[in-house]
Amino acid sequence: MEELDIWNGAVSARPAVVRRCHDIDEVRDALRQAAAEGLPLAVRGGGHDWAGRAVRQDGLVIDLRGLRTVLIDGDVARVGGGATAADLIAAAAPAGKSAATGTVGGVGMAGLTLGGGYGPLCGIAGLAADNLLSAEVVLADGTVVTASDGSRPELFWALRGGGGNFGVVTSMVIRLQPIPLVYGGTILFPFTQAPDVLAGFGELVASASDELTAQTGVISAPDGTPVLFVKPTWSSTPDEGAHWIKRIEDLGEPIMSSVTTMDYGEPLRRGDEAFARDGRHYACRTRNLAALTPDVAQALVTAATARTSPLSALSLHHFHGAATRVPVTSTAFGLRREHFMVEILASWRPGEGDEAAHRRWADTTADLLEPLALPGGYPNMLAGEHRDQTAHAYGPNAERLAAVKKEFDPDGVFVATPLPDRL
Ligand SMILES: Cc1cc2nc3c(=O)[nH]c(=O)nc-3n(C[C@H](O)[C@H](O)[C@H](O)COP(=O)(O)OP(=O)(O)OC[C@H]3O[C@@H](n4cnc5c(N)ncnc54)[C@H](O)[C@@H]3O)c2cc1C
Repeated sequence: MEELDIWNGAVSARPAVVRRCHDIDEVRDALRQAAAEGLPLAVRGGGHDWAGRAVRQDGLVIDLRGLRTVLIDGDVARVGGGATAADLIAAAAPAGKSAATGTVGGVGMAGLTLGGGYGPLCGIAGLAADNLLSAEVVLADGTVVTASDGSRPELFWALRGGGGNFGVVTSMVIRLQPIPLVYGGTILFPFTQAPDVLAGFGELVASASDELTAQTGVISAPDGTPVLFVKPTWSSTPDEGAHWIKRIEDLGEPIMSSVTTMDYGEPLRRGDEAFARDGRHYACRTRNLAALTPDVAQALVTAATARTSPLSALSLHHFHGAATRVPVTSTAFGLRREHFMVEILASWRPGEGDEAAHRRWADTTADLLEPLALPGGYPNMLAGEHRDQTAHAYGPNAERLAAVKKEFDPDGVFVATPLPDRL
């Protein structure tokens, strides 16, 4: 999909109309057009939703790539509704700041933040959503509102975890972090060591300080065979971080370790390269795991061994520290206990291998992890058909979310991250 430049090449829906919007009036006009012509509506931010929710068949797309300006003002940034994490970090860096983003630069800040937003500063700064201070929103009827603690607080509550289900966010005020540099990089271990390293990693990060947030998972070595990665981010002084990095390296015999002091944007640039937008096809599933126990480690190894494509990967995000100290009912995000969010990423080049088998691998892996997992899942990674998981995805917040949906989008104009059936 060249014009919309959607990350997942497997998305086959084609819109009838794409409206590239540069300001609020153009967004309102596009909403009017969709309503007048009865066109299903979609909103395109960074284009990284794997399920392709930035486009609907024969619908109208509000493309926000004309709204990517980021203005830095002291400890906050005013971020356009179509800005990516890379846009925000590039603007914040000269001021010696960063922000709670995800792990990949090209992901849209609004799409990430509205769904939650796991990232390298999760332990010290919480989710991206926890750093949203206010949002300017165009509602389905064209009304423009500001949502914050002091203005439309219910909408503001729902925007932090409830996805793009309530309106078009044309700009956000985001809290910045005084963290221009991190001590981070990648450590690779032979796959044969994966069971021990994963289990040891689970124990280690369970007792780690907030400053250490680490991802782990399985990708491919250049010859296509699986390799275990750990991507730590230490967000304080390198001297203290070196101690934790050494402990991670000592979990096995690393093939490679590239941990060093780097600007916050560097790992995000590497993330863009690893999960490229180059026409590859993707099918994704997700599970939340309460802990990375030896049983879980073994299941992950079994899943990784069964991959049908060298491009397929497993990636675990550690949710801990500051993110767990936010009371679960104070935002719509439904799971505040410590956990690992697993991304199951089946990926292949079109025509390479058996597409059905690639997709099946993602489903089989989700099934394998189910008995070990918490109910629910990360809404940004769930598709509409994952009803069982969606039913639990918002934890105790589902009913309240339903009420906000009814108030702000009674006709269901915005179809975004899935909401439970009964909503
Ligand atoms: C390679 C990759 C890496 C990822 N890494 C992480 C990660 O580290 N942490 C994490 O938590 N998630 C991660 N994700 C998931 C990501 O956060 C979601 O897919 C997110 O929805 C993408 O937002 P987008 O704007 O890029 O996507 P789009 O496809 O443009 O938008 C997806 C949906 O978000 C909503 N939306 C986007 N912008 C707006 C807006 N301005 N107003 C209203 N609604 C809007 C709409 O419903 C839209 O359909 C990753 C995804 C990919 C593909």
